[in-house]
Amino acid sequence: MDRRPHRSRPRVVPRWSARARSGAPATGAIWPFDPELAQLELGLRDLVKREAGDDEDRRVARAWLSARGLALAELGAVIFAARDATTLALALEAERAGDRDPLAVRWLGARLGYPPCCTERYLAIPIRDDAGLFDALLPAPGHPAPPESLWLVGALGLISHAPCSLECEDTLRLGRATLAALDARYAGFASVWRGLASRLHTLDADGRVSCTATDRLEVLPEPVPRVVAAAAGAAARWSADHRG
Ligand SMILES: [Zn+2]
Repeated sequence: MDRRPHRSRPRVVPRWSARARSGAPATGAIWPFDPELAQLELGLRDLVKREAGDDEDRRVARAWLSARGLALAELGAVIFAARDATTLALALEAERAGDRDPLAVRWLGARLGYPPCCTERYLAIPIRDDAGLFDALLPAPGHPAPPESLWLVGALGLISHAPCSLECEDTLRLGRATLAALDARYAGFASVWRGLASRLHTLDADGRVSCTATDRLEVLPEPVPRVVAAAAGAAARWSADHRG
C-alpha cells in the first residue's frame, strides 16, 4: 500500500534518455538531435546540462560533447559542458546550492539560455518536480499553441526549460532560432520535426506518452516510456496542444 503523501500523483513521469540529445540525426531521421548545442553555437546559451540516466547515457553524452570541443564537469548524474573552466566551476557551485536557492537558479537559468520570465515563474511554483510543473504550467485543453514551445515530450522539445506559458514569446523565439539552426545543418530536419511536434500530446498517470496520429512515434529513441496510441484521451493526465 502506498502511503506517501502525494500518492495521487503519477507514479512515473518519463525520464528521457540523454542519448536522444547526444548525436546527429541521419537524413530524414530526427534522433539524436542536440538543440542545446545548437543554442550554444548560436550564442544563446553558454552552458549545456545533461542528466545521465545510466552508464551508457553518460558515455555517449561525454563523447558527443567533448568531440564538439567542450570541457566537461560532472556532479552525480549531471553533466555540464561549456567552453571555459570558469563557467563550469560556477555551474557546479550553483548546482550544489540547489533548487531552493533563487540566486543559483537564476544564474543557471541565464547561463542555460532560459528566458527570465520562465525562470521567475518557475521560482514561484511551490512543487517543482515534473508533475508539479505540468500541473502549474500546462494550459487547459482548447488552446492550441505553436510546436516550438513543446516541453511535455522532452525528447522532442527544442527547449530545455519549463516555459512560463506555451505562448511565451521569448521561448518561441528561442525555439524558432534553434529549429532554423538544426534545419540548416541537417537538411529536412524542420519538416520531420514539425510532423512529430505539431500535434496534441498527452501523458497519462502511468507516464505513457501518446499523441494524435502515432504513425511515426515508433521512432522515439530508447529507452522511452511506453508509447501508446492516442485512445480518445480518456486517461490523459496532462495534455499539450501544439497544433497552433
Ligand atoms: Zn517565459
